[in-house]
Amino acid sequence: MAHHHVFIIGSGPAGYNAAIYAARADLKPYLAAGLQPGGQLTTTTDVENFPGYPEGVMGPQMMEDLRQQAERFGTTVAYTMVSKVDFSSRPFKIWEDDELHTADAVIISTGATARYLGVPGEQELLGKGVSACATCDGFFFRDQDICVIGGGDSAMEEASFLTKFARKVYVIHRRDELRASKIMQERALKNPKIEFLWNTVVEEVLGNDDGVRGVRLRNRVTDEVSELAVTGYFAAIGHKPNTELFKGQLEMNDVGYLEVQGRSTFTNVEGVFAAGDVADATYRQAITAAGMGCQAAIDAERWLEAQAD
Ligand code: NAP
Repeated sequence: MAHHHVFIIGSGPAGYNAAIYAARADLKPYLAAGLQPGGQLTTTTDVENFPGYPEGVMGPQMMEDLRQQAERFGTTVAYTMVSKVDFSSRPFKIWEDDELHTADAVIISTGATARYLGVPGEQELLGKGVSACATCDGFFFRDQDICVIGGGDSAMEEASFLTKFARKVYVIHRRDELRASKIMQERALKNPKIEFLWNTVVEEVLGNDDGVRGVRLRNRVTDEVSELAVTGYFAAIGHKPNTELFKGQLEMNDVGYLEVQGRSTFTNVEGVFAAGDVADATYRQAITAAGMGCQAAIDAERWLEAQAD
């Protein structure tokens, strides 16, 4: 059984920045990278809003840089998945499958996962034309007609990116107004390969083992039902916090985001801290997650010091 001062769960900007700060405080953090090392940014293309990169940076490259920076100061990065935790007594218990670890402090930075609509055909055709990651799968749709669902920044970003490959990209949005920021909207609205279908919802994803062949749509104003022929379907309707592991142990809000106290990263269990998208339904940016990771490491360090006194 391995014991750690600080066990970090998750490897997005929050986890790696917590690791950089904890390592530099000589806390020798152990970081379990999870199913998708590097987190959500490994499925994005250009990151243009992270300070320090005037020309922008590719998401996967930025995460690789952060990992190297965390390791340089003594973080152990394990490519493992945490399967269970027990925060009811100290030291805290964390399992990676059957392997038990203990820790004096835990930083949770498990992020959030893409949501799907839940309509018939969607899950059945996952990986056969249904995706939530344009960066991962866009390449497969060269010269094809595809659709993106949603009206937020993710939908605009995915749609714009997909025009590099696709012949035509339909953005299907349930309202007649976009939620996305002005700059992202403008980019998508002026792209000649993108067509917007307003006030429209997907009722079914159509296809078979050979892949997606279309979507059945309903116009929410006219109630008209139609079929649109597409071979690719990208869900871009937001995210769900990855907090299943902590149910019944940590306080969460009604949609599952971890609650932290005030402007700190303290959860309701002393010694367990939360940082990044898992605890932030408001900002959800790489830079805010990174900042919160730094806060969590400082909170953990000070809390550990206070315990030692
Ligand atoms: P979001 O802002 O929550 O937008 C989700 C979109 O999906 C909304 O347009 C919403 O419609 C639609 N939607 C949700 N549930 C739906 C359902 N059941 N059926 C149909 N449509 C549904 O999520 P996001 O676009 O993933 O962005 C999340 C955060 O990340 C935001 O803060 C965003 O600014 C940020 N982000 C930034 C960048 C960037 O700056 N490069 C890129 C991506 C994301 P309604 O509008 O009708 O609610």
